Amino acid sequence: MLLEVKDIQVYYGAIHAIKGVSFEVNEGEIVTLIGANGAGKTTLIRALLGQVEYKGVIRHLTTDGRPAADVRTGYVPQQLEFDRSSPVTVTDFMAASLSRRPVFLGVSKKTREKVMGALARTHCEKLCRRALGALSELQRVLLALALTPQPDLLILDEPVSGVDQNGLESFYQTVDELKRTNHMAILLVSHDLDVVRRYADRVALMQGTIVRQGDPETVFDSEEFAQVFYTRGGHV
Ligand code: ATP
Repeated sequence: MLLEVKDIQVYYGAIHAIKGVSFEVNEGEIVTLIGANGAGKTTLIRALLGQVEYKGVIRHLTTDGRPAADVRTGYVPQQLEFDRSSPVTVTDFMAASLSRRPVFLGVSKKTREKVMGALARTHCEKLCRRALGALSELQRVLLALALTPQPDLLILDEPVSGVDQNGLESFYQTVDELKRTNHMAILLVSHDLDVVRRYADRVALMQGTIVRQGDPETVFDSEEFAQVFYTRGGHV
């Protein structure tokens, strides 16, 4: 499957937040969006998720170029707003999302198996009884949820806080494994250039529009990159 984005424009009132963005993500590929604060990365993701109005074309194509049907997009947000002191466990949270049964009725055996199967995909079955609010591995649980049922396109907004370096490393190893074994198309927003260098197949540098795209080294060595991150005082 291929995600094709052509000439996307997004306005927030008078603010022209996204100006003619075009790019593609192929299956079995990680494309990373980078850019300084306010570059439009979140807005672009919101357009892809259908959360903001946009002009332009966003379409999904099969490998032989026909419009793909029943496309599923999995999304892992940068953070989840919830009461961290709540006793809700990982299993309760996953069960509430994966079944229609109210949590106070308990988790059925079938749903429990589904939850454990989902957690196994991101190697975090051992977290099932832990309170959701106490986890440093929350992103891994959110990834497990985004993968159930399996998406064609996975959109990841990199967590910027509450995850230690080891956790982040193993999170990206899992994402990379998913790319290789499930041939998913993956779009990742990242501020961590080391992660981008090691895991991205292609990089799109945003500054209102995509000012440069290509393999990581080509983008990092470009004038546009220097201008965004050094000259204009942006940070990665
Ligand atoms: P960051 O890395 O800081 O999250 P970003 O690259 O995700 O930034 P966006 O949040 O998409 O950038 O913002 C793009 C532009 O749109 C900015 O000028 C921002 O101020 C503006 N913007 C974003 N959301 C809104 C909104 N809801 N209403 C008005 N303007 C907005």
